[in-house]
Amino acid sequence: LAERSQHAQRLQSLGHLAGGIAHDFNNLLAIILNYSAFIIDVSDTGDAVRADAQKIRTAAERGTALTRQLLVFARGEPASTRRFDLNTVVADAQNLLERTIGADITLIARPASHPAVINADRGQIDQALLNLVLNARDAMPDGGTLIIEVGTTDLDDTAIDLQPALPLGSYARVLVSDTGVGMSREVTRHILEPFFTTKPKGRGTGLGLATVYGIVTQAGGGLNIYSEVGIGTTIRLYLPLADNPATSAETAEPDLAPDGT
Ligand code: ADP
Repeated sequence: LAERSQHAQRLQSLGHLAGGIAHDFNNLLAIILNYSAFIIDVSDTGDAVRADAQKIRTAAERGTALTRQLLVFARGEPASTRRFDLNTVVADAQNLLERTIGADITLIARPASHPAVINADRGQIDQALLNLVLNARDAMPDGGTLIIEVGTTDLDDTAIDLQPALPLGSYARVLVSDTGVGMSREVTRHILEPFFTTKPKGRGTGLGLATVYGIVTQAGGGLNIYSEVGIGTTIRLYLPLADNPATSAETAEPDLAPDGT
């Protein structure tokens, strides 16, 4: 037990350190982003310079995404919770997601036929979805199909192996399913751990799913993972519906959106 708490403490200091560095780094990246955008935009920039500036900008954008992930992971940034419909998260992100996965992967987005209103940090939920989609993309180097489905559900038989276990009640559910390489049981067991990655150096941080897990649990929810080697992976996020007294972190506001039933 002592060893465990020491491990937790080390992780926490590491988180603080990473958060601090990420914050300062973000400010530097903002400067690089702004000036490279300026070089791209000024009228007399030659094509070669513009192409180089675009490379700088793309690298800085990737750096920004990484530091944002670190900030969320380190929880240096407090969650700012509000009500929103999960359907809008997927609808708003669809363009970005399609560009992220490329033309070889088909995105099938299936919104719920009714609102799925939750209380959470919208930016963090965006980030969680993006992390899942990035993993799905990496799992399908030769293309495939990515399904993103939003729904509402009572905890039913798709909710086995939930981490952590959740109180019974109605939840919003986001399913992200790919037809990629899949994972062995051994890998599946470890993927929520920070810094666990099977990707080559420089490609993976091992923070993607640890971040998703942190975000989902902070919102009072949980997730489960189903994967088969050579078939694909399905990850389901369960988030308490805003208007469900059994599961919601906040009291319902009766005049706002219905709970979807
Ligand atoms: P990273 O993507 O930086 O490696 P993650 O925490 O997001 O970190 O993922 C950890 C590991 O989980 C990945 O390296 C990969 O082995 C495995 N993984 C995650 N998502 C998938 C997926 N959709 N299909 C196959 N493997 C996956």
